[in-house]
Amino acid sequence: MLTLATTAPGEAGIEDLRRAEIFASVQGEGPSAGRMCAFVRLSRCNLACTWCDTAYTWRFDDSRPHRDDAVFDRKAEQVTLPEADVAAAIAALGCDRLVVTGGEPLLQGAALARMAAALPANVGIEVETNGTVRPHPAFAPFVAQYTVSPKLAHSGNDAALARDPAALAAWAADPRAVFKFVVATPGDVAEALALADAAAMPRARVWLMPEGTAPATLREREAWLKPLSETAGVHYSDRLHIHLYGDTRGT
Ligand code: SF4
Repeated sequence: MLTLATTAPGEAGIEDLRRAEIFASVQGEGPSAGRMCAFVRLSRCNLACTWCDTAYTWRFDDSRPHRDDAVFDRKAEQVTLPEADVAAAIAALGCDRLVVTGGEPLLQGAALARMAAALPANVGIEVETNGTVRPHPAFAPFVAQYTVSPKLAHSGNDAALARDPAALAAWAADPRAVFKFVVATPGDVAEALALADAAAMPRARVWLMPEGTAPATLREREAWLKPLSETAGVHYSDRLHIHLYGDTRGT
């Protein structure tokens, strides 16, 4: 069984498969930006980024920090479904690329392997992960791309968990892994590049992306982050879906 986030939390009369956050949209970030993809958003996360824009996947009590005081009702926000049903709903979207996101999706690696085995063979799988959980050995062979997003100090997470050097080096050794650092201030760039170099991440596989859930914030940060990215020899990533749809679920 897989535990997913929902687009219609707690709405009476809507069956779980229709409430589950499975949708087709434009990938807005990283190397696949602009590509039409299927998305599945899994619930639960082992980190607690203060600026997380999907806190409804993990903030079920007020003991875990966040920038606002919103606490979500686990029962309303989660649906648990058979892997075959999730795979069928994804296949029905007709996309040849699937983005598995969260939350932290690799917490459910064994179930993801069963889901992946039930997908059509032409669907390439991209996994968005915070980089703290190793892929389940049964799931890894199905994955075409890992988009690893190590969380910097401004995320508020414990460094030993969020930025473990050995874990980052293991990802860097996998040619399927690309790296996306969320940046809020110019000072974050130096931290990101130091982490990238220490883990031997090739700069051609590194993206810097502004933190923000409003187009105006992204544009303001783009003005200094894009030149800094070019100077460092890494890629800049926008958040295209925010410009297209705003900060909304299911997009
Ligand atoms: S790792 Fe991702 S899902 Fe988890 S708290 Fe951070 S931003 Fe949110």
